[in-house]
Amino acid sequence: MAQLISIVLPVFNEEPGIQATIDTLLNFTEQQKEDYELIFVDDGSKDNSAQIIHKAIEQNPSIKLVEFSRNFGHQLAITAGLQYTHGDAVVVMDADLQDPPEVIPRMIEKWHAGYDIVYGKRMQRDGETAFKKFTAAMFYRTFKKLATIDMPLDTGDFRLMNRKAVKQLQKLHEQDPFVRGQVTWIGFKQTSVKYHRQERIAGETKYPLSKMIKLAIDGITSFSMKPLQFANMFSIIPLVSGVFYLGYLFTTGNYTASSVGVTILLFTLGLLLLSIGILGSYLGRVLDQVNNRPRFIVSETQGFQERNKGIHH
Ligand code: UDP
Ligand code: MG
Repeated sequence: MAQLISIVLPVFNEEPGIQATIDTLLNFTEQQKEDYELIFVDDGSKDNSAQIIHKAIEQNPSIKLVEFSRNFGHQLAITAGLQYTHGDAVVVMDADLQDPPEVIPRMIEKWHAGYDIVYGKRMQRDGETAFKKFTAAMFYRTFKKLATIDMPLDTGDFRLMNRKAVKQLQKLHEQDPFVRGQVTWIGFKQTSVKYHRQERIAGETKYPLSKMIKLAIDGITSFSMKPLQFANMFSIIPLVSGVFYLGYLFTTGNYTASSVGVTILLFTLGLLLLSIGILGSYLGRVLDQVNNRPRFIVSETQGFQERNKGIHH
């Protein structure tokens, strides 16, 4: 039997381009040897996106639609979409054809070569503002410095995951998921294919600055405790200057009421920041516990069957 590939497509107000996306994808899937299902997740669109998809479903049973009751956001639309997939592998892509379907066979090739996750690495981004490209580049580089996971640079949510990876992803129950971070976090064999990100076929980006900021904050706060501990670092400045100032007072014998006041102030400020930093470190642990990710994921085990046989003679 042919393998089944599920494509998950989050949709938010994509009326101008959604029909073209459906047609292009159907045309693409017809030419592949694998079977495909297209799972659209309508993230509370206020236009006719859902109606257009409904119509398409009547003509083609490989199309499916999950409708949200309101706009919950791109990341949750992906998370929800994964729950409805049946494929041996799942591909997540934008519903605006920015991620070209021609890349999928290259992802499948890597999957067949033994990789569990194949992400698309954007080599070039068309039709996106210099501001967006700059902020994205800055974000990925800052994230790399702060985060505990080694997320590849310049990747979005366009990727293929096999069933094993999807199953683990579904065990993560974060309220505000940062999916590309989660995918890195689960581990397994990961690789990339390079691609050229296209201009969106129609409409505007559904990621205004406010949503980009939320995504960046969700990403950093779910995979880094460092900002919580910044106060620790800053406490060094007043503490060290306090010590130097005290040394200066000792050597010069220049005590006045105000110089003693300054010393006390510096030390108090330092201790205060330090305590905030310590609070942050504990809060970090609480956050870890609340995130409730499994503590580890076993990729495979070997030799257990044989051992059992041995015991049973
Ligand atoms: N999207 C969504 N919910 C949102 C915002 C966006 O489901 O709140 C969808 C959108 O329709 C698109 C994908 O997520 O299919 C990525 O959004 P977009 O293309 O606007 O982002 P960009 O490619 O500009 O970063
Ligand atoms: Mg897009």
